[in-house]
Amino acid sequence: MVKNIAVIRGDGIGPEIVEQALRVLDAVALRYGHTFHYTDVDMGGCAIDKYGDPLPETELQKCVESDSVLLGAVGGDKWNDVPAQLRPEKGLLRLRAGMGVYSNNRPAKIWKQLSAASPLRQEIVDKGIDFIIVRELIGGIYFGEHKTEGGVATDMLRYSEAEIERIGRIGFETARKRGKKLCSVEKSNVLDSSRLWKQVMHRLAEEYPDVALSDMLVDNCAMQIVKNPAQFDVLVTENMFGDILSDEASMITGSIGMIPSSSLGAGSCGLYEPIHGSAPDIAGKDLANPIGTILSAAMMLRYSFDMPQEADAIETAVSAYLDDGWRTADIMSEGMTQVGCRQCGELIIRKLREEG
Ligand code: NAD
Repeated sequence: MVKNIAVIRGDGIGPEIVEQALRVLDAVALRYGHTFHYTDVDMGGCAIDKYGDPLPETELQKCVESDSVLLGAVGGDKWNDVPAQLRPEKGLLRLRAGMGVYSNNRPAKIWKQLSAASPLRQEIVDKGIDFIIVRELIGGIYFGEHKTEGGVATDMLRYSEAEIERIGRIGFETARKRGKKLCSVEKSNVLDSSRLWKQVMHRLAEEYPDVALSDMLVDNCAMQIVKNPAQFDVLVTENMFGDILSDEASMITGSIGMIPSSSLGAGSCGLYEPIHGSAPDIAGKDLANPIGTILSAAMMLRYSFDMPQEADAIETAVSAYLDDGWRTADIMSEGMTQVGCRQCGELIIRKLREEG
């Protein structure tokens, strides 16, 4: 297959980690006979320096016209004092809106080799943590009317059936590509929007008989994520609940440098990025962990390019690399061997070649 990938290296550690992910993608292309074309896109602080704009329209167009976008990270102290409209993060918001991505998907997975890094008790971790939170990204209370009048503040929470249905479908489709279990999280004992949410999810379930749907109240879900995370495969929820639960879920896995994410809209074109920021404190020092970005590339293969075997190959190579005891500084522990960002990429590519 031939795929066109828009590549946003961004700021701070962005260029270093993206470079390693591209090398891994090249190794996958070679092994499976694909061609990946990369188009560089300037976004964030580097785009402000070059064009005075964090995401000029021409750069956004390159993303919209691509088969998918791989992003490192943007931002840094250098651009803290620029006007709000010009901040690097504005580029990110414009990119999400321009691509029409309404679903943010964040896996919470604990690698058995790193289980000691989890703040949870070992017996809970040993049962396995491997689930994805599918969060509605452009609706709900964050996008409703906000006002403060006469000492009363109001934030409007509204969802239409159509908005619920499109995110619901992403939940079901994601579950279909994984363990075929979908848990819909809401607050239907209190909120009308949640009662509608639940209704729509159950109506959709009839179209996905191969996926087992369950319901859970959000307060219970927050407890279950720390009590028994092994029960979950895919969670689907609205914007604010998803914001909070996905941060909770990433904490229990222990390392911010290891977690990928995807954002999807109506078509197959998605935005793939690690969950961490541009880490200016370690930028340019070959200290960054590129695995969150490498696993984001694997998600791109699985969810946008329908290449599950290729995605599995990357994940297996990462696991084999960890098995051998290699660690970047952020996840270094006693008895392991420390490597830099570039060597980490090289070793994962070597594992990929050995698998083949
Ligand atoms: P951060 O995620 O960049 O860093 C937090 C801590 O984690 C730092 O100590 C950093 O060194 C470490 N870290 C992060 N990623 C790592 C990796 N791959 N390997 C090893 N260590 C890693 O968060 P921050 O310091 O709050 O933000 C720094 C900048 O990034 C800010 O300008 C912020 O606005 C921006 N940011 C961008 C995004 C994005 O591009 N999506 C997301 C969050 C923050």
